[in-house]
Amino acid sequence: MSKVLIVGTIGLDTIETPFGKKPEIIGGSAVHAAVAASFFAQPAIVGVAGTDFPEEHLTFLRSRGIDTSGINILAGETFRWSGFYEYDMNQAHTRDTRLNLYATFDPQIPETLRATAYVFLANLDPDLQLKVLDQLKGPKLVAMDTMDFWIKNKREVLHKVIKKVDVVLMNDGEARQFMETPNLPLAANRLLELGTKLVIIKKGEHGALLFSRDNHFAAPSYPQDQLRDPTGAGDSFAGGFIGYLAKSYDLSEQNIRRAVIVGSVMASFNVEDFSLNRLKQLKHKEIVERFAAFRRFTEFAAI
Ligand code: AMP
Repeated sequence: MSKVLIVGTIGLDTIETPFGKKPEIIGGSAVHAAVAASFFAQPAIVGVAGTDFPEEHLTFLRSRGIDTSGINILAGETFRWSGFYEYDMNQAHTRDTRLNLYATFDPQIPETLRATAYVFLANLDPDLQLKVLDQLKGPKLVAMDTMDFWIKNKREVLHKVIKKVDVVLMNDGEARQFMETPNLPLAANRLLELGTKLVIIKKGEHGALLFSRDNHFAAPSYPQDQLRDPTGAGDSFAGGFIGYLAKSYDLSEQNIRRAVIVGSVMASFNVEDFSLNRLKQLKHKEIVERFAAFRRFTEFAAI
């Protein structure tokens, strides 16, 4: 099975949505991405968790075939994020971010994982993302994600990361904030000018846009009436996207478009329940069916 290296947070989230409040549930950017990617490839997570991180969560990750040998368990507290959503569930509001062990984390990619072909730098301190990039040996494709927290605090470092990766994923609000324009195609062009080859702008319940220098592709979102918790949708999108690319080993325009739809499919399942509850139940057959639904509702005849 193709491998995907995923570096990001391993966390415990406290989340409130109009559908309920859940304290201390398994989350983190690397965790959401890896679980989504595990439906297509073998992800390996590199990150840090404290001795307070429940063992059952690690057991679950391993049960999905995820390589957890790069997860350092250290004395101290696990990363924690607390946030809430109002009726506009596209917009996460952060109550509290506690980096805890991530404040001093020095990511060391195990020797066995340094030559992994497909790499996802999930939402993480961009200084740490740079340290990871320096350790990679000839990756075929590196994608990265970020969020408002890092755009606000580490704008200059983010520029450096973007120069070195192939795919930048951001949500619409972050792309506008980072590129200082309300216009999304303009924001995408500015990101491309920084040096990345592809830009994917995620628009929550309004789908996703893919930009390269020569092409543009718009993916719709799934008309989701089961939305309960959008946390991790972006990471599930990224995990599905890169997991599928690793599995198919094909970076043609057509296949990248397919991967964008696979990402959209995985995000659409993730939001149906809190934390990883929906992905824990997900069957491959459901992924195939939803992919087909995306094809049906985006097909139209020539004029
Ligand atoms: P998203 O896909 O954007 O909804 O990502 C949600 C996940 O990101 C949550 O499970 C959080 O634990 C994690 N997260 C929140 N804030 C940060 C941050 N500043 N850096 C890294 N990960 C974060």
